[in-house]
Amino acid sequence: MSDEHEPRLHTVADGVHAWVQPDGSWWVNNAGAVVTADGVVVVDTCATERRTRAFLTALEQVCAGAPITVAVNTHLHGDHTYGNSLLPASAVIIGHPNTRAGLLVDPVIDGCPPFWTPVPDWGNVTRRPPTLTTQTSLTVHIGDRRIEIRHPGHPAHTTGDLVVWLPDSRVLFVGDLLFHQVTPLVFMGSVQGAVRVLDWIAAFEPEHVVPGHGPLIDAAELAGVLETHRRYYDLVLETASRGHRDGLAPLAAARRCVLGTFADLPDSERIVLNLHRAYADDLGTEMDLIGALADAVALNNGPMPTSV
Ligand SMILES: [Zn+2]
Repeated sequence: MSDEHEPRLHTVADGVHAWVQPDGSWWVNNAGAVVTADGVVVVDTCATERRTRAFLTALEQVCAGAPITVAVNTHLHGDHTYGNSLLPASAVIIGHPNTRAGLLVDPVIDGCPPFWTPVPDWGNVTRRPPTLTTQTSLTVHIGDRRIEIRHPGHPAHTTGDLVVWLPDSRVLFVGDLLFHQVTPLVFMGSVQGAVRVLDWIAAFEPEHVVPGHGPLIDAAELAGVLETHRRYYDLVLETASRGHRDGLAPLAAARRCVLGTFADLPDSERIVLNLHRAYADDLGTEMDLIGALADAVALNNGPMPTSV
């Protein structure tokens, strides 16, 4: 594997680092950290023991011995949280209440269903949910830094998304509110909410954005990235309403959908997961998560690839 495919710690601004894991597809997430002499604030962990240890080892090189005192989980998904148990026991983990509640009942950490190939092996990780929660905002003061944690106020990628904003360096960690060069996924959140959150992100006027998956985004690229998300969500909503009208189930609607340029993005089978969410929101019904994932496997003609 060449270096460009290896996970790497990028210095985004003074004391602000992003752990970027190519290619950002299923279970392969980004994380990060803010380093001060008084302690380190980590943003998300990784899916597996191996990937989280690689992140924490790289982080040690830039920490000058400062301990990890706080971690933030941007949302509940296992690629961002299963490594929590590898953080120091004394670190306080912050998350939205729905992240905590979801992790407490998440069955996937105990054994991943065979929807992906190879079936992910998390390694030696255990359930460790956030112990400090906020439904709105929270500010961490550490060293000479002010670290703002904010919830958009509505569901988007999930029902408990948090972003981490550094006003002094204008860096925004958005978690999975943005997927850069990877198909967006909103099946556990809201398609309409994911559209709404794009303007909320833009309003920060960040200089650097760390997406939950895919390469870093600078200020000059952001408008284009937001527009790409908007076009993708428009396609999801339009496909759902036409599918609905024609009496098609989400899988049939997905098979009929012309993805255009989105067909070239990794994880394009997510269209059916996103359609399941759009249908459930239209009908006001609960979404069948396992049924939706089975449909994604069907659309992909087999388990979905991962390099986790
Ligand atoms: Zn996610």
